[in-house]
Amino acid sequence: MTRGKTLAGRTFALVFLLSLVVMLASALAATAASFRSYEHEAEAKLLAQASSVADSLESLDGEEAMCRMLEGYPFVGLRCTLVRADGTVAFDNEVPVAELDNHLGREEIRTALELGRGITLRKSQTVGTDMLYAADSMSDGHVLRLSETRTSLASFFGGMSLQLVVSLVVIFLLSLLAARIITRMVVKPLRDIDLSNPLENDAYEEIQPLLARVDSQKRELQAQNEELKRAVSLRREFTGNVSHEMKSPLQVIGGYAELMEKGLVEGEDVPRFAGLIRSEAESMRGLVDDILVLSRLDEADAARTEDVDVAQAFARAAERLSAKSDDRGVSVELISSGRCVVSGDNRLVEQMAYNLLDNAIRFSPKGARVRVEASSELGVVTVRVSDSGPGIPDELKARVFERFFRVDESRARETGGTGLGLAIVKHVAEACGGEVRVEDNTPCGAVFVVSIPSIAM
Ligand code: ADP
Repeated sequence: MTRGKTLAGRTFALVFLLSLVVMLASALAATAASFRSYEHEAEAKLLAQASSVADSLESLDGEEAMCRMLEGYPFVGLRCTLVRADGTVAFDNEVPVAELDNHLGREEIRTALELGRGITLRKSQTVGTDMLYAADSMSDGHVLRLSETRTSLASFFGGMSLQLVVSLVVIFLLSLLAARIITRMVVKPLRDIDLSNPLENDAYEEIQPLLARVDSQKRELQAQNEELKRAVSLRREFTGNVSHEMKSPLQVIGGYAELMEKGLVEGEDVPRFAGLIRSEAESMRGLVDDILVLSRLDEADAARTEDVDVAQAFARAAERLSAKSDDRGVSVELISSGRCVVSGDNRLVEQMAYNLLDNAIRFSPKGARVRVEASSELGVVTVRVSDSGPGIPDELKARVFERFFRVDESRARETGGTGLGLAIVKHVAEACGGEVRVEDNTPCGAVFVVSIPSIAM
């Protein structure tokens, strides 16, 4: 941005120059008009004077009497010439008559002889300056001419120099004032803009689009900022939860190992303690695995898009969990109808199926049956995983999908699990463009329903 180029500065300079030019031009025009009217007045006055002198000469008898009278006449600043009808000069109060040539060629004399009176403005052949001539003809053919030095524009101005200086100063000051007032008027609404509330400004209509843009960008930034804060706090919470979850198995492992180290474990108890240590290590590995899956899901790019048969993914997961289900005497029934193919990442969809089945098996009472129904209808693949476990209270149905949320915290160690399983399920369903929800099963238990848009054949 170049400094010094301000709207206020530019407006001020422009308005100042413009008003100065306009005011000077109008002052000049007014002076010229008054000069013109002054000239008209001077002409009329000189003509009147000429005709009054001519009138007084009319009553005299003969040229000699006329010349005598003219000699005694008090002409102030006026030249008086009496011209005969043949153009020769009979009298002149400034130039000796002998030096004067025939005046028939002079315009004012000719006009007076023809029309009775004549007036001309020209350079005098005799005196050499700009002169105003007024001639009046008499009944005996003589023409009386009066002339005076014409006031030039410069001397006209000179005569009013004080007024001119005063009006120039006034014009200058008025221009400054006008520029100041207009600049303020133009710039004030811009200076007064409150950018913290762009749309509440009463500014020019022309800058409304700009303000609207500022407003929308501000909102966008605020939203991004909040999103960022939320992400930071979620991450912090997640890290806190992860370290907390890791601590318990590590403490257990550390405790058992210490007992064994100090020889406090009897020989026959060693396999049992080693088994406990192994199971804690396994649950830690499960936690680490789940965290890795989640972080893969967080980087959306890592998820591949391929054709995934959801029914087959559930079948593979059930196969992997068969030892566990056999152990609990829980049977898993798989029913599928239609082509249940969606677009997603095979490994992640199988992980989703694994987590849902694992929960259903874990929370089902011994000897119960878990049902998986996959169907494809109206462009949506729906999988319903039903069990007959404790089910999920209505008010917690949304919260079970949060990371590390458990319905019964005190029983968490008993039922096992990382607390991340359903968070992964939700994430995978959404990554495939679908969703997951939980419903009640009848007469008891939970039904987890996954719906994902299918891909056309
Ligand atoms: P966990 O590893 O603890 O099972 P999940 O995220 O998979 O974590 O599940 C979160 C919580 O939701 C579980 O701790 C449990 O309280 C509840 N839950 C999940 N599945 C079921 C189910 N099929 N029946 C009853 N409660 C369930």
